[in-house]
Amino acid sequence: MSNETEYPDNSDNVLAFTKRFNENADIKEMLNVSKAKKGEVYCRHERIEINEHQRSVTCRRCKAVVDPFDWINSVAKKEAIIAWELTSLRLEIKSHREGLEKLKREETNCKARIRTAKAKLEADI
Ligand SMILES: [Zn+2]
Repeated sequence: MSNETEYPDNSDNVLAFTKRFNENADIKEMLNVSKAKKGEVYCRHERIEINEHQRSVTCRRCKAVVDPFDWINSVAKKEAIIAWELTSLRLEIKSHREGLEKLKREETNCKARIRTAKAKLEADI
């Protein structure tokens, strides 16, 4: 004996129920072209899948077919930006190291002056 319960298909009722809240919902369905709403996630096709058999490149997230040249070109542009940022960061690190060395020399000189001043004070007493 089966315990399965058959549920009636209420999808038409659900559709009618949701349309009750937005009477103009059908207008959007009639449009051939619609703009993405503000805040909707725009896919930049960052993760792709290569199909050797079909010789195609597909976005793993949105399943869009991606032009291989465009994708490689976008990666090359991103890498160029990263290389430029890396160069400027290395320059910044070099500048900070030089500043640190200057501060260390200044600290050493200050300690030496303090020692000299202490020695002079003790000699005068
Ligand atoms: Zn995508």
